[in-house]
Amino acid sequence: MKMIALHGDFKEDWNRMFIHLANLFFEETHVCKAGETGDLVLRFEERNDEGQLTVEGTLTAEGNTYQASFMETAEDGTEKERNRQWKRLYSHVFLELLENCTGMTQEWGILTGIRPTKLYHKYRQQGMEPDEVKQLLMTKHRVSRRKADLLETIADIQLTAVPDLYQLQNEVSIYIGIPFCPTKCAYCTFPAYAIHRKNGRVETFLDGLHEEIRQLGEWLQDRGIRVTTIYFGGGTPTSIEAEEMDALYEVMAQSFPFMEHVREVTVEAGRPDTITPVKIDVLKKWGIDRISVNPQSYTDETLKAIGRHHTVQETIDKFKLSRSMGMRNINMDLIIGLPNEGLDEFRHSLAETEKLQPESLTIHTLSFKRASEMTRNKKKYEVADRPTAEQMMKLGEEWTQENGYVPYYLYRQKNILGNLENVGYSKPGEESIYNIMIMEEVQPIIGIGCGASSKFRDPETGRITQYHNPKDPAAYILSYQESIEKKLALLDEIFPETILK
Ligand code: SF4
Repeated sequence: MKMIALHGDFKEDWNRMFIHLANLFFEETHVCKAGETGDLVLRFEERNDEGQLTVEGTLTAEGNTYQASFMETAEDGTEKERNRQWKRLYSHVFLELLENCTGMTQEWGILTGIRPTKLYHKYRQQGMEPDEVKQLLMTKHRVSRRKADLLETIADIQLTAVPDLYQLQNEVSIYIGIPFCPTKCAYCTFPAYAIHRKNGRVETFLDGLHEEIRQLGEWLQDRGIRVTTIYFGGGTPTSIEAEEMDALYEVMAQSFPFMEHVREVTVEAGRPDTITPVKIDVLKKWGIDRISVNPQSYTDETLKAIGRHHTVQETIDKFKLSRSMGMRNINMDLIIGLPNEGLDEFRHSLAETEKLQPESLTIHTLSFKRASEMTRNKKKYEVADRPTAEQMMKLGEEWTQENGYVPYYLYRQKNILGNLENVGYSKPGEESIYNIMIMEEVQPIIGIGCGASSKFRDPETGRITQYHNPKDPAAYILSYQESIEKKLALLDEIFPETILK
C-alpha cells in the first residue's frame, strides 16, 4: 500500500481522482490523514495568466524528485466546467509524475471511464472529423496513438454495423436476467445462484419474470416503441429446463411489439454443461440464432481452479453440436490472466479457438471484483503480472487480425489486470448489436429479471437514470411488482408521448 501526502486542500472528489490515478500504478493507495507520513509527497501550483492555465507539480518518492507541468487555454463555460478543466490539468500533471517515477506508461492516459468509445462518438456527434477526435484524445486525455487508433477503428465498425446508431434514441433494447448457473465460478459477481430445484424458487422466479415481460411489453405496445435488440443473460439463461425456455420465449414473442423489427435476440448459453439438443431446438423454434458458448480457457486445470465444473472437451463438443444444429452466430469468451495461466496457456486457447472459428470472440481481462471469491482469497490464486497480461492482450490482437476478426466494442473496468480492457471481436457483419447498444448508451435499456439494470436515457438530453432489480431471486420474487411500477413511471418520464401510431 502507498500513502500519498498531498500538500494543499483538496475536496473529496479530487482526492478520489488522485487515488484512482495512483491505483493505475500501485496495488492500493490512500491519501494521508494529518500526522501520517507519505510514500509519495505531492505539491502543486496553479496559475491563470490571462486565460493561460498552468499546473506545475512536484513528486518526491524514495528520495527522488520529479517535476511536470501542463498548460492549456481556458475553455469558455460554467463554473462547473472550469473546475472540470482544472481537474483535468491536475490529472495530466499527476499522471506524468507517476509515469516518470515508476517508468510505466498508461496507454489510456487520464481516461478512467468505462466507455472510451462513447467519448469518441460524443466528439464525432459534435461534428469533429476522425483526425480531430484522435488528436483531441491524445492531447486532452493523454491517450496513446495506438489506443486512439483502436477507438477510431471500433467506432467505424460500429457505424457500419448500425448505420443509424445516432438515431436510435426512440427505440429500446431489452435485457432479461436469469440468475441461475450449474455452479458458481470463482471470479464471478453476477447474480448466479447454483440451480437446485427443490424449493420451487426457479418456478416462482419465472412466474415473476413472465409478468414483468408482459407488463413492460404492454407499455411498449401502447406507446408504439420498437425494440432494437433483446439479450438473455444472467447467470446462465440455458440453465433452466427446455420447457421453461420455450414458455419464456413464447411470452417474449407475444408481449413485445413489432417483433419482426427486432434486429437480434441473443441467449447466453455461457456454460457448455447446460446446452442440450432439446434446448437448441427450442432456441431455433423461436428464431434465436445468436448464442454464447464460453470456454474462458482451454486448459482443464484452469477450469477446475475457477470452479466451472465442465471440461474443455465439453465446450468443444457443445460448440460443434450447436453449429451442426444450425446456430450460425456463436460467440466465445476468453479471459486473460486466469490463475496459473501465462502466454503458453493463452496461446493454446487461441489455437483451439482457431479450429472452431466462432463468429465472435470476446477477450476479457481478469478483473478483481470486490465481491468475488477470487478477490476475497487473492493469495490462493496466482495470476499473470502486468507485462505478461499485456503480451497476452497483444497476442489476442494479432491472432484476431490474422483470423479475420475486427474489434467492435470495448470496455474497461476498475481493478482490471494491467489496466487493460475487454475487447469484443467479430467476423465482419457478425457484430452483436446489443453489445454496441449497451456500450454506447444511445438508447434506453430496459432490464427485466434478477440483477437486471435498466438505463432510462432521455432522448432529448441524453441524461441517464438507472434502476436496478434485486440480484437475489428471493428478493426479486417479493418485489418484482414494485419494480415494474417504478420502471413504468421512469419510462413515462422519458417517453411521455406515443412514438409510432
Ligand atoms: S457461468 Fe457466468 S454467471 Fe455463471 S457463475 Fe460462472 S461467471 Fe458467473
